[in-house]
Amino acid sequence: MPSEFDIIRQYFTSSVSSQSRADVVLGIGDDAAILDMADHHQHEQLVQSVDTLIAGVHFPVETSPEDIAYKALAVNLSDMAAMGAQPAWFTLAITLPDDNEAWLKAFSGSLFSLANEYNMQLIGGDTTHGPLCISITINGFVPAGKALTRNTAQVTDKIYVSGTIGDAALALASMQGQCLLREDSTSYLDNKLNRPAARIGLGLLLRDFASSCIDISDGLIADLEHITDNSNVGATIIFEKIPLSKEFNSNLTDETLIIPLVLSGGDDYELCFTIPANKQVDFENSVKEKKISVTHIGEIESKTGVRCLLNNTGIDIQATGYKHFVG
Ligand code: ADP
Ligand code: MG
Repeated sequence: MPSEFDIIRQYFTSSVSSQSRADVVLGIGDDAAILDMADHHQHEQLVQSVDTLIAGVHFPVETSPEDIAYKALAVNLSDMAAMGAQPAWFTLAITLPDDNEAWLKAFSGSLFSLANEYNMQLIGGDTTHGPLCISITINGFVPAGKALTRNTAQVTDKIYVSGTIGDAALALASMQGQCLLREDSTSYLDNKLNRPAARIGLGLLLRDFASSCIDISDGLIADLEHITDNSNVGATIIFEKIPLSKEFNSNLTDETLIIPLVLSGGDDYELCFTIPANKQVDFENSVKEKKISVTHIGEIESKTGVRCLLNNTGIDIQATGYKHFVG
């Protein structure tokens, strides 16, 4: 049986990760990490966030170790994207039910592979025994005053989302036995649930354009409502404009099933953000040039609350399974 120290050394130290950042003076192995701020502190601010994933709560217990690791880091990367931050360092607090080395190897391989894509270094953590739980604290940087927040949307701003909406919720519904998916779309949809793409590149671009931003973890309406409530404004979005994948559309045609998944389903980790009307043209040109997929779905208004129109008629959002403050 490997000891806690063996596990840390074998699966989580720099010997298994190729990443070594110049601003990490001392990484894993001492009582704490030492990070050099010299290149950062003059003009940059540190952005920090933590997210915890519990087996059976945030992912089905049968999820593969590769997917668990990917998602645990990806949801944290998504918080960096939503702030417009460039990710840099992370810590990993992991609670393990046993010392399954094949599981640990697969988990750490997947974790470092995603971390390396973003030039991120694991700088420390904690390893304990108990029911499987993964908590990652992520740190990133933004130029001073450039972070994207939720409380700064303005009336007449345009509302956008990235990627497509509802795929993760559809995959989850199928996993929970609520619907059957076409075979040709299961791997695409499962991947959207287990391996959400962190929109880091878009987040960096939005620093120059967006008036507010959030990542969609709880559902489009619930998360847009965080922007409108915090900004003391309201919003109307047009259901027909919400981007849906061809895989989503090929599985569902019944509006009564589609609407709750799109408006209230969570886990997509796409960005929802607002662009001032006078920046819209430049923004659209910029995303086109960078081949980033975004869609204009509505407008910010002075009337508080979030409304969604379908066929020019308001959808009764409460009736779609949407729950305030539950997510
Ligand atoms: P301490 O008793 O001081 O908390 P630990 O024995 O918990 O130290 O950890 C030893 C070193 O290993 C520390 O540098 C810690 O940050 C690191 N570490 C522990 N668990 C992990 C992990 N899961 N991932 C990365 N680093 C870890
Ligand atoms: Mg410790």
